[in-house]
Amino acid sequence: MTRGPAKPGTVYLVGAGPGDPDLLTLRAARLIATADVLVYDNLVAPAILDLAAAGAERIYAGKRRGNHALPQEELNLLLVELARAGKRVLRLKGGDPYTFGRGGEEVETLHDHGIPFEVVPGVTAAAGVASYTGIPLTHRDYSQACVFVTGHLKDGSMDLDWVGLARRRQTVVIYMGLHGLSTLCEKMIEHGLPPEWPAAIVQQGTTPHQRTVTGTLATLPELALAAHLKAPTLIIIGEVVKLHDKLAWFEGGARTA
Ligand code: SAH
Repeated sequence: MTRGPAKPGTVYLVGAGPGDPDLLTLRAARLIATADVLVYDNLVAPAILDLAAAGAERIYAGKRRGNHALPQEELNLLLVELARAGKRVLRLKGGDPYTFGRGGEEVETLHDHGIPFEVVPGVTAAAGVASYTGIPLTHRDYSQACVFVTGHLKDGSMDLDWVGLARRRQTVVIYMGLHGLSTLCEKMIEHGLPPEWPAAIVQQGTTPHQRTVTGTLATLPELALAAHLKAPTLIIIGEVVKLHDKLAWFEGGARTA
């Protein structure tokens, strides 16, 4: 075990938001500017990393599908080691750290090793994509509930609660679902939703590369394939998708100011 200064540094587990750097919280921006070392994922925008001090160390810990730059256990211990060396450690994760981000696992390790930590929420992809595509997650006319699920399970299968997901008056948001999109749509139909039920897939939401493909459970897999979408993508299933045509303001990737 490495012996550091008597007092360990704090680890800040910080959400970087879904892509648009302007969606960073003020708390996150302040902490990034004062960190000694940044440990960041591949979904974190370069403009956000630029907020760090010139002398700050930057460690890439990104993951892409099935290709982990650093195994999770090693990463957890790296955070412990850096803190024990007395550093202010900024662990930056895309979106919100406690939404499909393994933030819980990282903080459990810190807790077990007696390292002080703080967690800063971020705008999760579902919230960012909803606003920037004009697909409200709830709407009194269409949907009174919203469920977030991951389409990518640890062993690569998709063992979800289909009965619970295939409900009317509900919006289902699927993270990491592109690979399983056709299975997902088939299962939703099999469990009772009509083939013409609205569905959308959104690539790189809130960034200049945002693209939205809308269709139905029957048509979306083929439309997505034809569109050659790139990760990250988010899938939204539910009648709220109908509002996209009316409420979209960002397609083409421009904010007004
Ligand atoms: N903690 C993150 C999610 C990490 S899992 C959050 O709260 O957003 C990574 C998945 O998030 C991606 O596979 C994709 O499904 C989704 N995602 C993240 N950023 C996205 C974006 N800008 N557009 C669309 N999907 C995104």
